[in-house]
This record gives sequence, C-alpha cells and structure tokens, in this order.
Amino acid sequence: MTEPTSDFCAAYGCPMLGVYGFSGKWYCCCHFNANPALNDAITAELHRMKSVVDRVVLARREHRADAQLENSLVLITREIGQQQTIPTSNVTGPTHAAPHFSETDA
Ligand SMILES: [Zn+2]
Repeated sequence: MTEPTSDFCAAYGCPMLGVYGFSGKWYCCCHFNANPALNDAITAELHRMKSVVDRVVLARREHRADAQLENSLVLITREIGQQQTIPTSNVTGPTHAAPHFSETDA
C-alpha cells in the first residue's frame, strides 16, 4: 500500500491520475470524454506508454502539469477511437453487388 487509489483515474486499471471530475468520478485526460467502450483499449495504450505516463503522473504529484506530455497522450488515445470503429450488428452482407460489365467477347 503505497498510494491511495482514490487519486487514480476511475477507468479500470488506468495508471493515470484522475484530474477531471465527471458524475462524481475522476478521470484522467485520456479517459475523460472518451467512449466507454474504448476504456480498456485506452488503458492498454497508457500502459504501453508507461514512461510518458510516469512523467505525467510525477508532474501532477508535484502540483504542476506537463500539458505538452498530457496532450500527446490524449492525441494517441484519441486515435484509438478513430481506428477502432467496431462494426455494428446490422451487417447484412455486401452493400452492393459488383457491377457486371458485359464486355466479354461473346
Ligand atoms: Zn484514465
């Protein structure tokens, strides 16, 4: 037991500190306003970016914020949402049939 967990972002497993309040919970700059369906993907990315996260957390602990580093994390995690457009269930097959060109030499 080194740190009170209440300091941390409310997203499960997130290594960042919660700094933005929303509905009584505190989220980090990456999970705040993020699609909840992407929370785990964002958390995983933050763990991959641990060296950056450590510096951001340290800055927060020292009561300063490294806005540039935090912004870089926000940009990285925002791309996750754009890359993972999960198909919805109403996939019924090809949206259009391949046009048939009767250019065969019959
Ligand atoms: Zn977070």
